[in-house]
Amino acid sequence: MNKASFVPEILAPAGSLDKLKVAVLYGANAVYVGGQKFGLRTAADNFTPEELIQGVAFAHERGTQVYVVLNSFLHDKDLAELPEFVRFLADIKVDAVIVSDLGVVKTVREHSSIPVHISTQASTLNLSAARLWKKMGATRIVVGRELSVKEAGNIRREADIEIEMFVHGSMCMAFSGHCVISNFTQGRDSNRGGCAHSCRFEYSLDMGLDTEEKKTAYFMSSKDLEGLRVLPEFISSGIDSLKIEGRMKSHLYAATMSKVYSEALSYYASHGNFLSDDFLRWEIELSKVSHRDYTEASLVNPAGADSIFNERENAEGGWHMAGTVIEASPKAGIVVEVRNAFNQGDQLEILTFKGANISLSANEIMDIGMKPVLRTRPSTLIRLPYKPGVEAFQLVRAQSGVR
Ligand code: SF4
Repeated sequence: MNKASFVPEILAPAGSLDKLKVAVLYGANAVYVGGQKFGLRTAADNFTPEELIQGVAFAHERGTQVYVVLNSFLHDKDLAELPEFVRFLADIKVDAVIVSDLGVVKTVREHSSIPVHISTQASTLNLSAARLWKKMGATRIVVGRELSVKEAGNIRREADIEIEMFVHGSMCMAFSGHCVISNFTQGRDSNRGGCAHSCRFEYSLDMGLDTEEKKTAYFMSSKDLEGLRVLPEFISSGIDSLKIEGRMKSHLYAATMSKVYSEALSYYASHGNFLSDDFLRWEIELSKVSHRDYTEASLVNPAGADSIFNERENAEGGWHMAGTVIEASPKAGIVVEVRNAFNQGDQLEILTFKGANISLSANEIMDIGMKPVLRTRPSTLIRLPYKPGVEAFQLVRAQSGVR
């Protein structure tokens, strides 16, 4: 058995304090979060200063790093407010900031010694740009999504700077995110946190045809990235960090992605290969989360027309979040705080922190006073019969639409 000397970190999205805890508990080596300002996801539940303090403490106690996104492109009036926030981030000891704008890089360097990671929005695609960023004090580059793993590996070697690449999640159709569709169609600035995902909409192509013959299509909507089968290339190319997209996605998504990718890399670390019987289980887990069809985008070859997902809605993963385990013991049973209602007889799965999940049919649901329940209600506590291996903070999912 060969042990691997190097495996990349798994960097998971944390759109809220709860999701940060989920990602950490399910195995992420690092998480990225946004404050109330200066990031590119104004619609996420961005962290308040108090939540940032709590999140950093929770993550650091468990050996997980926290990166804060400051990747908006700022006007002068916004930039004037940045130094105070940067000093706050330095005080609470965040592990890095992720930055696109040169003015932000300069401000962070002047007001702190926080490591600077260059965002994918900066479109770094070549060695020369990487060397320049390094000279300016950057310690890591999240390379443009247009780059292959092989090209990124070359930059890693020649520029001797850490490289981060996206491994999973929704794709942006614009060149490294430089898009103004939302600005024009919704009055929301994509490059300052307001992307309305306009590229996912259905558009009609009026090519001089009669109204009935007009074609409608989702011709700009990309499939989702999935890089599980590309992990060997990421490793052999020395890519330092594998990023999972999705600060606005669900708790279930944060848990599943953190678990699958960190488990796959831990297997590689101890065996030196991916010849695991678990590979199929990992692929099934990825398919159970709501997603569009998967693509490897440009990780190996440049993305083309087969990367388009020409359909209306996300493909359903077939499962949804049912709740969170609050307590589990032979005496108390499995106490679940319900997030979304489910019924007696529904099929449930408990996402263990590691290894195969635990299946159970919700044949016996009790309320806290031990009265039988036919249909659960959100924000209530219920009990299920105990099963070994179930622990507090694990997530419970229910099969959608199956009775
Ligand atoms: S609308 Fe689509 S292409 Fe434009 S920034 Fe948003 S995700 Fe990217």
